[in-house]
Amino acid sequence: MVTLLGPSEIRSLAASLDVTPTKKLGQNFVVDANTVRKIVQAARVVPDDRVVEIGPGLGSLTLAILETGASVTAVEIDHRLAARLPETAAAHGVPDGALTVIDADALRVTELPGDPDVLVANLPYNVSVPVLLHFMETFPGLSRGVVMVQAEVGERLAAPPGSKVYGAPSAKAAWYGAWRLAGTVSRQVFWPVPNVDSVLVAFERDAEPRGTEAERALTFGIVDAAFQQRRKMLRQALAGVLGGSSAQASEVLERAGVAPTARGEELSIDDFARIARALA
Ligand code: SAM
Repeated sequence: MVTLLGPSEIRSLAASLDVTPTKKLGQNFVVDANTVRKIVQAARVVPDDRVVEIGPGLGSLTLAILETGASVTAVEIDHRLAARLPETAAAHGVPDGALTVIDADALRVTELPGDPDVLVANLPYNVSVPVLLHFMETFPGLSRGVVMVQAEVGERLAAPPGSKVYGAPSAKAAWYGAWRLAGTVSRQVFWPVPNVDSVLVAFERDAEPRGTEAERALTFGIVDAAFQQRRKMLRQALAGVLGGSSAQASEVLERAGVAPTARGEELSIDDFARIARALA
């Protein structure tokens, strides 16, 4: 039977490794068993799932995932934490072979053993969006998941077009599938206590990819241009991408069925993708 880490064990583990949590690596460890179980339940992890976890840290969420009987591939950048995790898992009843630890920067990982299909993570807050988009792009086998992120980031990821917080991360995340807020998490469950609130965000990948890699890259370029110049009309932002005139940009938008006076914040990822196809 897999047992979870308690709050005092987490602190003594960190002390034995000489780890003082750093902001640079977004090291806020969850010290509450109910919270890690809540994340695993939100992700609906079942025994046959092959889960990838980004940033396992001392292992509190990792053990809660393993408790379900699922297998875990965990990617951790901090060598001391990555090196200790297998030992912690064995001491907590994790069977041999259920956990694979990769000592690496998640932003640079391009291959994962075991072909994971579910992502579960308490993401390092400073790189949460780039890491998430990198994983969605690099591992198309990831069909669903739940991540814990800073509240503002989670609201953005789940925001529909036209909402106040809709931005480039919202449109890019929507390229891959549907995102929704799946709960809030008190800052008191972390050690050290962060100065931001956290939320859970759940995603389901679309059954079919929205386009090719080239279409995605062009679409994301247009999304970036549209949101970098938020107050400008889309035809002006697009003229910049095209290196052409505002009249040429209007023509592309017309072909895509998008009003030249529209602003990026009103457009769905499908609108952006149509513009990219009209441009190509
Ligand atoms: N999962 C643990 C928990 O819930 O207690 C720790 C979560 S903590 C918010 C983020 C973890 O991500 C830390 O262990 C940190 O060392 C790790 N990390 C930070 N940047 C990373 C990166 N680029 N790639 C992989 N891991 C990273």
